[in-house]
Amino acid sequence: MEFFKFSEEQEMLRQAVREFVDHEVAPNAAQWDEKDICPVELFPMMGELGINGIFVPEEYGGTGLGYIERAICLEEISRHSGGLGIAMMTHHLGMSAILSAGTEEQKRKYLPDACSGKKIVGLSVTEPGGGSDFIGLKSKGELKDGQWIVNGRKCFITNSSIADIDIWAIRTGTDTKGRPSLSTVILEKGMPGHLPGRKENKLGLRGSVTGDINCVDVKVPPGQLLGKEGAGAKIAMQAISEVGRAGMAAICVGILRGCLEESIKFSKERILYGKPISKLQAIQFIIAENKVDYEAARLLTYQAASLKDAGLPCADEFAIAKLYATENAVNAAKRTIDLMGGYGVINEYPVGRYLRDALASIPSGGTSHIQKLIIAAGELK
Ligand SMILES: Cc1cc2nc3c(=O)[nH]c(=O)nc-3n(C[C@H](O)[C@H](O)[C@H](O)COP(=O)(O)OP(=O)(O)OC[C@H]3O[C@@H](n4cnc5c(N)ncnc54)[C@H](O)[C@@H]3O)c2cc1C
Repeated sequence: MEFFKFSEEQEMLRQAVREFVDHEVAPNAAQWDEKDICPVELFPMMGELGINGIFVPEEYGGTGLGYIERAICLEEISRHSGGLGIAMMTHHLGMSAILSAGTEEQKRKYLPDACSGKKIVGLSVTEPGGGSDFIGLKSKGELKDGQWIVNGRKCFITNSSIADIDIWAIRTGTDTKGRPSLSTVILEKGMPGHLPGRKENKLGLRGSVTGDINCVDVKVPPGQLLGKEGAGAKIAMQAISEVGRAGMAAICVGILRGCLEESIKFSKERILYGKPISKLQAIQFIIAENKVDYEAARLLTYQAASLKDAGLPCADEFAIAKLYATENAVNAAKRTIDLMGGYGVINEYPVGRYLRDALASIPSGGTSHIQKLIIAAGELK
């Protein structure tokens, strides 16, 4: 494994995003969490900064950078707001599917507005029948008079009601072995019969909209098919495994950094027995554990992102990074709450939010059980 080091340009990007976050995100994160508001007005600002289209080539309105830079942006945003982090990460998820599978016409039609923040993107795969078994999804598209007629219900979809561009995975037939054959279509807000449904009241990652979307006889022109008919499982899986999990790992690296910084700050300020609790060895052990988990998650995440940028296989590496970062963000947040004594459970401090955000990060992009299955399958091959 090569030594991983950020370039000077990447450090400058981090600084620019950090300044934006300190100004626009940090002061408002608690309020977005409490009221469960997604700050959609920040998308055009993040477009100006180049965050929305960070990995999108400049010819489609993007910044023309890569997945390491994307992880930097998500880490910085999620250091203060995991909710805004997942809203952005899902915007990227949908854009990546268009970028990798879209026609030239589709890329030119959708990506520039998504990069500028004029439009928000989502990816709708999960259904009430179970996200882990997504191949068994029930939403279907039937070709009638040259148009796809789409019907079905999606649940737990990030950006559900705020997305202008909504990519759906649907069943369009069966393959030669009789298994469901999936395709992906690009739906647009306002298409007759495309109806965002109830919004979930989540434990964590609040400040992002998660909810149902229903399709009732939505007429979809053939030009809205994303990729070839029958290629939907591959398109959705590539986006989820290389962009979704990558994003959730980076979000939890941000949460882990939050835990580390808050544990240091609090332990230096809290005086017991006439001296800061940072002098107590048990407290130092917590800080050490927070540091180790942050550094390990960070290395796993950026290493996997560097593989993606190099065009190398990276799905297993993102599964490892996602599993490690999400589970240890939960552990670090719990430890940090312990370190703070009674203050740890007072909502004036952000650590309770970090714990809730970390817990809510586990299912998104596939549960820890599923990541373990992927990792073990890779090892047993
Ligand atoms: C905050 C949030 C945002 C999300 N955003 C999106 C989105 O934008 N788009 C989208 O399509 N989906 C989204 N999801 C859905 C997410 O992908 C699913 O929640 C996830 O895939 C798990 O599916 P499920 O909730 O139906 O659980 P289930 O699949 O029903 O799983 C239930 C339990 O069974 C376990 N299990 C399942 N299969 C196996 C197995 N083979 N071996 C061992 N254990 C197993 C699971 O680990 C879990 O513990 C989001 C979820 C959350 C929480």
